[in-house]
This record gives sequence, C-alpha cells and structure tokens, in this order.
Amino acid sequence: MPDKLRLATVWLGGCSGCHMSLLDLDEWLIDLAAVADLVYSPIADYKRFPEGVDLALVEGAVANAEHLALARRVRCNSRHVVALGDCAVTGNVTAMRNPLGTAASVLQQVYVTHGAPRGVLPDAPGIVPRLLDTVVPLHAAIKVDLFLPGCPPPAPAIRALLEALLRGEAPAVASRFG
Ligand code: SF4
Repeated sequence: MPDKLRLATVWLGGCSGCHMSLLDLDEWLIDLAAVADLVYSPIADYKRFPEGVDLALVEGAVANAEHLALARRVRCNSRHVVALGDCAVTGNVTAMRNPLGTAASVLQQVYVTHGAPRGVLPDAPGIVPRLLDTVVPLHAAIKVDLFLPGCPPPAPAIRALLEALLRGEAPAVASRFG
C-alpha cells in the first residue's frame, strides 16, 4: 500500500448498514484520515468513481444496471476490491426478491398485484435504474479480492481489515477467494 491510501467506499444494493458500521469506528476514523484519503463515498458528494483507487470497500449486492456499471468501473479503477457485508458477499437481503422471478415479474407483483394503490408501474426511463432479472453477489459481477461477511460486519472487523491492509498484511478477518 502507498504512504497515503486512496480509499473508496461504494453503496450498491444494500441498506447502508455496512456504512453505518464503518462510521461506528468513531474517533478511529480520525486516525484513518491521517493515513488515507477518502476519494469516493456515499458520505461525500462525489459524482464519479475516480481512477487510481487503492482500496474499494463495496457494500451491497448488484441489483440493477446502475450497480453493474459502477461495479465494473470500481474494478477497473481499484487495486483491491473488498465485498463488505453479507449482501455483497452472498446477495443476502437484497437477493430475497430473486424467487419472485424476472424483473418484470417482480415489478408486476410489487406494484400491481400487491401494491397500494394498485395498478401503477414505475415508468421513468433514465431516472429509475433498470432492475436486473437476478440480484447477484459482487463476485458474480466482478473479481473480488477479499470478502468481509456480516450483517453488518462489526466495526472492529472493518478496522482490523483496514489496519492489516495498511501494514501490507493479509487481513485475518477476511476471506480471500479465487
Ligand atoms: Fe444492510 Fe446487512 Fe446488507 Fe449490510 S449486509 S447492506 S447491514 S442488510
């Protein structure tokens, strides 16, 4: 890892609980800021995932076309990609819609069959991202370097992962696949 880590955090199809766990690191975030620059995150107003990222922590599964495009950009522009939390690792809560079938079937059942008021499908091309037919975990969309499970991963586990990577070591708390 370089002297000052270029760190990104990414929010795909998740509840933001994994980011809340990251924020639970409280004052240690001040220590982190001394050794890492946050170059992209939902907690900052960055519009485009930058180039030259050292480490990307990715929360959430890949559920729509916007997620898929962002995940691919994250992979292209990042040296290390971590699947942060069970939604990124397995699909978890976000993938609970998969048994309902294709995207069209999901929308029909949620908005028309069981929706209130019934009969109105969302129709905002270019504004509402197109749902994928199947929600997939991050590693099904892009190559992932490390997996940190948990719903959410506990803050100390996130800290241990970051500290190990900053020391140039393999984190003991995360799995390395592939
Ligand atoms: Fe939320 Fe749990 Fe998914 Fe994290 S793993 S985004 S906390 S549901």
